[in-house]
Amino acid sequence: MIKKRHTLLIIEDNELNRDIIDSILSDEYDLLFANNGLEGMMLLREHANKINVVLLDIQMPVMDGYQVLEEIRNDEKLCKIPVIVTTATDRPDEEEVCLDLGATDFVLKPYNQKVVIKRVRNIIRLKESTTALNEIEVDTETGLLSRNAFLHYSSELLKKNNDTDFSLVMTDIKGFSNLLTKYGDSAINILKNEADAIKSAIPENSIAGRYYHDRFIVLMPSLAGSNTARKELYEDLYEKIRKDVKITLKMGVFENFDHSFDLVSLIEILKDSLKSIKSNYQQNICFVDQEFYNKMERRNYIEQSMESALKERKLEVYFQPKHRASDGKLMGAETLMRWNRSDIGFISPGEFIPIFEQTGFVVEADAFAWDETCRYLRLWIDKGINVVPISVNTSRLDYTIKNFNVRLVRSVREFRIDPTLLHIEVTESLFQGLSQDANRILEICRAHGVKVELDDFGTGYSSLHSLAELPIDIVKFDQSFVRKLDEKREQLVMKGCVDLVKSLDLSTVAEGVETEESRQLIASLGIDEIQGYYFSKPLPAAEFEEYLIKHTC
Ligand code: C2E
Ligand code: CA
Ligand code: CA
Repeated sequence: MIKKRHTLLIIEDNELNRDIIDSILSDEYDLLFANNGLEGMMLLREHANKINVVLLDIQMPVMDGYQVLEEIRNDEKLCKIPVIVTTATDRPDEEEVCLDLGATDFVLKPYNQKVVIKRVRNIIRLKESTTALNEIEVDTETGLLSRNAFLHYSSELLKKNNDTDFSLVMTDIKGFSNLLTKYGDSAINILKNEADAIKSAIPENSIAGRYYHDRFIVLMPSLAGSNTARKELYEDLYEKIRKDVKITLKMGVFENFDHSFDLVSLIEILKDSLKSIKSNYQQNICFVDQEFYNKMERRNYIEQSMESALKERKLEVYFQPKHRASDGKLMGAETLMRWNRSDIGFISPGEFIPIFEQTGFVVEADAFAWDETCRYLRLWIDKGINVVPISVNTSRLDYTIKNFNVRLVRSVREFRIDPTLLHIEVTESLFQGLSQDANRILEICRAHGVKVELDDFGTGYSSLHSLAELPIDIVKFDQSFVRKLDEKREQLVMKGCVDLVKSLDLSTVAEGVETEESRQLIASLGIDEIQGYYFSKPLPAAEFEEYLIKHTC
């Protein structure tokens, strides 16, 4: 029988590394090569049905490996394709970060030929066996129920016992892919022993399954007793399950959940909770607590309703004024997003923006904020109101979209806005990793007259020396600076920073000024503008319109 050749996609910008991979793998596999993340995603989409494994470099220009991982994870069709991340750094948390982003395995450069071949083979085998296993009820390797069978029988059990409290328990063997590389097929025995131990340790009326790879899942009637007593019972269960002392086993427990919730979503919550102890050497058991549960519920809501919120205009832009520190003259404003009329009460941008960033939705949301800002400016200009420049926040992901500047220019043209009326806010993290792209895009914007503000200055990795090289016009001092100003020493530090920033011909804004006392202090330090509750909170468009009329006419 002719063995089917598998296809690998190699996303790697370094020619030498591509040649090495070619020499290691081309005998056994068909290889496709991409020079960067964007090209890689195009090839992956084009050949999604054919590609069995992706080998992904992390440090790359145009679109780095983290972004590729995020895109793959968020794509229903692509998320099942295993990704092996390759990296030259030995940052201890890098592997963790990549695995969290959905990578299946991790290989360090320079390449060790044997390790690369083994990892690729193992991943293909594991993938094929899990795909096949999903089709049948019992997992032949462990004897537990397959994922689908587990979900089916668990739903039945929960339906039949609506009044009984149940708990979900998930186990995860730390570093199982390393064990596979080290022990090959005999690593499967570890799984088998584990599964046998689970079968004999769980109480009556429980169901156990292999969720995927080395993750097992159990649905069992909740254990009774006080918090401490139950904790001990789960510790006993853990000890019984952890048969093989050579492995590190992590166990997550989700007690007494609501039966009406979707089982897969509940398991996802448990999985996330388990992740939180993955690199904690001192903790092997975790419990999904109510706070975590609520957080995940809110997260689910945000993810599921963000698109409709934008369409239904529940997402709106507000404007927070910026005033001249010396005499209080209105100088500008910042556009800040608000989510109104949600079903889960108030959601602050501090909560939804990070989720938008993780899901990539921020690109759409920011484009909306940009368009809305231009639309309102046009509306006010047409009404004969004197307007001030307005700054819009941007996220790192915005700069990976090729046509960022084109899009900005388009809304400026569409609404016939003088580009000097617009500012872009960026944070320092933007300049790490993708600096060339970001620099180029920002330079184009600046060439059109759009000013760039460096947001949250003082919270990140601020290197005062690098300020001179960044494509920025204005530095916004973070609220934390203002909060610390009652200490004399902090005043001196801030004065030094302000002087240095000014010596580079950059303007300055201080955020979070709430009292007359801080306003005076900030003004005495030589800061140009102030944004904060002292003057005004962020205002809905209609109120900001009145504010403009009052302060500029
Ligand atoms: P940021 O850009 O640093 O925005 C300033 C935040 O400080 C705003 O919070 C604002 O309401 C708050 N603030 C202003 N003055 C004061 C004050 O005197 N005291 C106190 N305690 N707070 C003050 P907000 O609106 O909750 O936004 C939080 C963050 O969410 C923003 O921080 C920004 O990073 C992000 N964000 C908001 N809208 C957008 C957006 O349209 N796009 C993107 N990418 N991010 C956004
Ligand atoms: Ca900002
Ligand atoms: Ca800020």
